Amino acid sequence: MGIVKLHDKFFKPFISSEEIDGTVERLAKEVYADLEGEVPLFVAILNGAFMLAADFLKKYPGDCEISFVKLASYSGTASTGQVEQLVGLNENPEGRTVVVLEDIVDTGNTLVEIHRIFSGMNVKSLKIATLFYKPEAYKQQLNIDYIGMELPHKFIVGYGLDYDGLGRNLPEIYQLKEKDMINLVLFGKPGAGKGTQAAYLKEKYSLVHISTGEVFRYNIKNETELGKLAKTYIDGGELVPDEVTINMLQAEVEKNEDAHGFIFDGFPRTTAQAEALDELLHGRGMEVNATIALEADDEVLIERLLERGKVSGRSDDQDKEKIRNRFEEYNEKTAPLMNYYKDQGKFYSVDGIGSIEEITTRLSRVIESLEVVSSK
Ligand code: AMP
Repeated sequence: MGIVKLHDKFFKPFISSEEIDGTVERLAKEVYADLEGEVPLFVAILNGAFMLAADFLKKYPGDCEISFVKLASYSGTASTGQVEQLVGLNENPEGRTVVVLEDIVDTGNTLVEIHRIFSGMNVKSLKIATLFYKPEAYKQQLNIDYIGMELPHKFIVGYGLDYDGLGRNLPEIYQLKEKDMINLVLFGKPGAGKGTQAAYLKEKYSLVHISTGEVFRYNIKNETELGKLAKTYIDGGELVPDEVTINMLQAEVEKNEDAHGFIFDGFPRTTAQAEALDELLHGRGMEVNATIALEADDEVLIERLLERGKVSGRSDDQDKEKIRNRFEEYNEKTAPLMNYYKDQGKFYSVDGIGSIEEITTRLSRVIESLEVVSSK
């Protein structure tokens, strides 16, 4: 399950097909336990309930009949409040137990129409079974007899539910991805304080922090294939090849589909990586909102790295030659990215000398000046 795009909108995974399957099974058993000995007439409400109807019937252990009524009340992502009956019932439900199968009950307008349809038909009893129910959206008093799952008031698609016609074929449920996401790139030479600041910013703005250097070190420590691949480059203060780094970054983003946004620390470091990041984010309805550089003089940075090397045990922090190599890599391959982001109007520079709090304040000022954040 990944991000899906339907028309102009992006949706993220919400409920897996296994969970839906288990819920449908429980629903079918609950109904059967109540109606044993009867032959109920199930009435599925089209279009949304077609997939539920098929799965529910396969799981219903007793004799039963099924019919369909076609109602519609949605236009785009909002309920219109007007329910239209497009295809009517052609069975006679008189004297029978009718169980309405609904994919979702939100405002309850459709339920009102269902009750109206059956009110003059002398049914023995009318029961409502719905796979999903949104209690916050429900505006009616009518009883719902069987509920599969309660959901928050979010727009969902999949498993029969659509967004303007699309998405009904998805076997899982997806949720509309809100637009107020923020993705930051922390930019700067080794030792500029990217990792230190990211740790504060991720808490403050509820972001997921991805440090490519950290991920590499974790993999080296655990002697994974990726770790073995990256080790010689890192030990020599060189950049790990783009292909390896880009694949790893993509996997880290995919592990966090629910993220509010990301702080990328130590990525991108080459133009190819910057282009890959744009492509990855665009495919998910996101973008880099700002690239913020932490500026400090080389002498200060070298001092900091050597100090850090004493405690961190990082071999690439302990050797002046390796540090120099990392700076060269930066000047040659990473520095050109400033123009890449300047051209897009996304480059910001912050003085990286001062106390940790002072620098966090400077970064926050930039972040809060961004449209995505102030509009929250
Ligand atoms: P850092 O912790 O960000 O200073 O990264 C430590 C080392 O990991 C770097 O010197 C590179 O060898 C490697 N590395 C981290 N991020 C990247 C990247 N985006 N591209 C290539 N190599 C990277």
